[in-house]
Amino acid sequence: MAAIRGSNTAPERRVAAALRNLGHRPRRNHENLPGRPDFVLPRAKVIIFVHGCFWHRHRGCKFTTTPTTRSRFWKAKFEANVARDRRVTAALRRTGWHVLTVWECATRDPGRLQRLISSRISRCLVRRRKSR
Ligand SMILES: [Zn+2]
Repeated sequence: MAAIRGSNTAPERRVAAALRNLGHRPRRNHENLPGRPDFVLPRAKVIIFVHGCFWHRHRGCKFTTTPTTRSRFWKAKFEANVARDRRVTAALRRTGWHVLTVWECATRDPGRLQRLISSRISRCLVRRRKSR
């Protein structure tokens, strides 16, 4: 799945639109940050990953299916993805970033997506002000 990283998928476009509607100017794909985040809001110190539910194993989500053939292969693949996500998030948080994960299934309704992103970013900003 590495090949689609960096491409502008529909969920990523929807997140970009929501961010712009909220007055943010998202930067794309920072090569030099761990995990090459999909969006970076440098001033708010917020990083946003747009994760596909299937590949990144959104817990309890109906899109998090498991193929019935080659189950060993898939299990290893999924575990590696989840472990990498965890490592990347930890590395970013250690260096002072707020990390938000937006699941693909949450991008389907633009209005809901915008409210979700808005509330999660403002929570980051509150935490940021408190820690100063
Ligand atoms: Zn999902």
